[in-house]
Amino acid sequence: MTHTAAAYATHAADKPLELYAIKRRELGDQDIAIDILYCGVCHSDLHTARNEWGNTLYPCIPGHEIIGTVTAVGRDVKSFKVGDTVGVGCMVDSCGHCSACKTGEENYCEHGFIMTYNSALSENTHTFGGYSTKIVVAEKFVFHIPHQTNLAAVAPLLCAGITMYSPLRHWKIDSGKKVGIVGLGGLGHMGVKLAHAMGAYVVLFTTSASKIADGKSLGADEVVISKDPDQMATQVNSLDFILNTVAVPHNLDTYLNLLKRDGTMCLVGAPATPHPSPEAFNLIAKRRSLAGSLIGGLRETQEMLNFCADHDITCDIEMIAMEDINQAYERMLKNDVKYRFVIDMQTLRDKEK
Ligand code: NAP
Ligand code: ZN
Repeated sequence: MTHTAAAYATHAADKPLELYAIKRRELGDQDIAIDILYCGVCHSDLHTARNEWGNTLYPCIPGHEIIGTVTAVGRDVKSFKVGDTVGVGCMVDSCGHCSACKTGEENYCEHGFIMTYNSALSENTHTFGGYSTKIVVAEKFVFHIPHQTNLAAVAPLLCAGITMYSPLRHWKIDSGKKVGIVGLGGLGHMGVKLAHAMGAYVVLFTTSASKIADGKSLGADEVVISKDPDQMATQVNSLDFILNTVAVPHNLDTYLNLLKRDGTMCLVGAPATPHPSPEAFNLIAKRRSLAGSLIGGLRETQEMLNFCADHDITCDIEMIAMEDINQAYERMLKNDVKYRFVIDMQTLRDKEK
C-alpha cells in the first residue's frame, strides 16, 4: 500500500496554496487509513494558512472537516472496517489522562490536543490536514457517519457543526430560550439550524441584507441587520444566549446590551487581534456573562452527528475543485459563501494520475 498522497499546501503567509506531495504515516495497530472524499473549508484554515494567529508551521496543509472511506484498518481496530464512511474533525490525538480527557472533553486537553493540522510532532514534523487525498488517524479520533446521502454536506459538521452544538448544549438551550446567532457564515448557518432544531426562538444578526431570506429559511424566527441601530434596539434586554461567530474584532457591547439579566454571550469567532474591551457596566448591571467555547469533545461530536442525522440536518454548501481554494479564501473574506465551501477531493485525485 502506498503512503504518498497529493495535497494542497502553502509555504508562507503571503503565498497561495499549491499542489504538494506528502507521505502519510505507516498504519499503526490502532490506526485507520482513509481516502478523503470531501473536506470543508473553515475560516480557521484561512487564519492559519496566512499565519494570522502567529503560530503557523509551514508547509501548511489545512482542512479539518473530513469525510472519507476506510481503506485499511490496524490490527487492534474494533469499530471500523474497510469501506466504512467516516469523519475526522479538528483533533487527531490528546494526552488521554488529564481531567479534561478523562471526562470526554479532549478539546480542553490540559497538555494541548494534537490538531488535525498545524500541530508539532516529533522529528521536526507537524500534522497535515484534509486538503489531501489520504489521511491516517487513530481509531479513537475517527467518527461514524450516520448520514446515508449528501456526504459532502455532512463534512462541515465536523467543525462548524460541533463548534455550534457544544455551547448550545452546555448552556442548555431548549424551547424556552431566545438565542441570538451573530454572523451567517459557515458556523453561523449551522448555529441557526441547530438552535432551531433544539426548539429555541432564534434571532439571526447579520451585516448582509442579502442574507435575510436565507436566514429565515434556515430556521431564524427573526433576522436583524446588525448595522441598523433601530433594529438592534428592538432586541435590548431580550436574549438568553448569544453565539458570536464573527472572525474580526468588533464592539461587543452592541450585543452584550441585548442580553437579559443573567444572559451569556459566548464567543466562538477567533479574530487575529483582540476585540475592544467591553464596557464593564454592561456586564455588572445585569449580571451578564461573556464566555468562549472551543469545538467539542469526541463523545459530543458523535452525539452531534447522530442528532443531525436524526433531524435531517446537513450544511448548505458550494462544492469547489481543489485548485479553486485560493479564490474561495478571497470570497470567504468578502462574506461571499453560502454557506460553506467543500472541496471535492476527486479533483485532487485526478491530478495524481
Ligand atoms: P465565515 O464563514 O467567514 O463566517 C463569518 C461571518 O461573520 C460572515 O459570514 C459574516 O456574516 C460575519 N462577519 C464578517 N465580517 C463581519 C464584520 N466586520 N462585522 C460583523 N460580522 C461580520 O467564518 P466561519 O468559518 O464561520 O468562522 C468564523 C470564526 O470562527 C473564525 O474566526 C474561525 O476561525 C472561528 N472558529 C472558531 C472555532 C472554535 O472552536 N471556537 C471553530 C471554528 C472556527 P454576515 O454576512 O451574516 O454578517
Ligand atoms: Zn474549523
